[in-house]
Amino acid sequence: MPRIIFPTARGYAILHKITCKKEVYAMPDTIAAIATIQAPSAIGIVRLTGPDTRRILDGVFAPANGRPMSAQTPRKLVFGRALDRSGGVIDEALAVLFPGPNSYTGEDCAEIHCHGSPVVLDEVLAAAFARGARQARGGEFTQRAFLSGRMDLIQAESVADLIDAESAGAARNAVGQLQGRMSRSVEGIYDALMDVVSRFYAIVDYPDEEIEPLQQAQIEQTLAESAERLDALLATFSRGRLLKSGVPAVILGKPNAGKSSLLNALLGYDRAIVTDIAGTTRDTVEEKVLVGSVLLRLCDTAGIRDAADTVERLGVERAQQAAQRAELALLVLDGSAPLTREDEEAIAAARRARRMLVLVNKADLPQVLDTAALRVRFGEVIPLSARSGAGVDALCRAVEELFAGGETPRGELLTNARQAESAQRALDAVRRAEQALRSGLSPDAVLTDAEEALEALAEFSGKRVRDDLVATIFSRFCVGK
Ligand code: GDP
Repeated sequence: MPRIIFPTARGYAILHKITCKKEVYAMPDTIAAIATIQAPSAIGIVRLTGPDTRRILDGVFAPANGRPMSAQTPRKLVFGRALDRSGGVIDEALAVLFPGPNSYTGEDCAEIHCHGSPVVLDEVLAAAFARGARQARGGEFTQRAFLSGRMDLIQAESVADLIDAESAGAARNAVGQLQGRMSRSVEGIYDALMDVVSRFYAIVDYPDEEIEPLQQAQIEQTLAESAERLDALLATFSRGRLLKSGVPAVILGKPNAGKSSLLNALLGYDRAIVTDIAGTTRDTVEEKVLVGSVLLRLCDTAGIRDAADTVERLGVERAQQAAQRAELALLVLDGSAPLTREDEEAIAAARRARRMLVLVNKADLPQVLDTAALRVRFGEVIPLSARSGAGVDALCRAVEELFAGGETPRGELLTNARQAESAQRALDAVRRAEQALRSGLSPDAVLTDAEEALEALAEFSGKRVRDDLVATIFSRFCVGK
């Protein structure tokens, strides 16, 4: 890992200058993209940013009041016509100019709001290209916002998370990060460590003097606090990951217990099936479903759907494997029939998951299973009828209690593996610095570790980050964002 090298006493100032992103990025061209869905819809938006925005906008949009767009009041929607390259009218539309530097990207930006016809939007885009704009790559608007210092990398990544959010909780957490909640807490740790580093430079500058005991105690305390804050932040990652990607879950039960009926009830209950994903293995299928406010990623639903030969398709071994990987097993028992060996096998499999909810299905039929006895054995059990839907809301509440307990996250949950990795590296380095200080190693040793922690935090927030990493991060964004 390259060390941040700078001369002694001026270290603080120089380090600060290096890490505050003030480099001027050359962004000579103007980019354009359709920012909305490419399907017939009420409104569609073409977006532009870059130095030629005003000139291109004046060419492709003629305000009804006769003045060119560049002479209109900024940040106000203006009614007019979108024009093709020969001045023909493409659409009656609205346009708005956001002058830099106080715009999303930091440069001049513009939007043309047309009727949401893919043909119209393509034509407007072509008109912008004809006047010198080029097609924006995925995430390029937000990448420019990051490079021009309008937002840090945590905020930029939260934009993609917000757009991709599959539950209200995930969206809330992402918007909290967009508003800077996570950035501020990282910045706080960074500043505290920077203070330690600057104190150390003072010490290194005067090598003949001992570290004053008071000084040492303060540094120890700052390091301990930083470690504690990083630790607390990292502890949010498991919940954050489940919030963002969904809770890996399985539905288990003997044939005819009502697994596929339950799946259908859950899907129908909320009508919120998000996607069908073909799994990486040959015949596993994953389905996402919102159960209450919690996104579940139900694994291996292929076997469940194919009710005819569930035993062969799912098999005890496979059910066990699926449960092993799951955070949650929904165990379906048939309340209208006594427990069998197959039930016991399903129970054993379900116990392999991190958590299990026991559902006594077919509550609409005369009950044979003794719910009280089941409660003694399992704790909570939920009677329900997949057929009528009775009890499904109780199931939703139980799932929410397990995975969405407490307050709605507002940006404090770490959801991003890259960020978690940087935080972990920072934590490890801070712990090494603490250790070095305690064992009386030379100030240089402590300094090296503290600087490494700073470097990791700088990567976390994007103060200093490799170009190729930036490219990778933004390439997962959609075009127009
Ligand atoms: P699976 O093999 O576990 O997927 O079970 P299915 O969902 O295919 O259900 C087996 C049978 O039980 C079907 O005939 C369902 O209609 C019936 N069934 C499922 N849930 C209920 C329920 O809550 N009440 C009643 N009366 N029948 C149910």
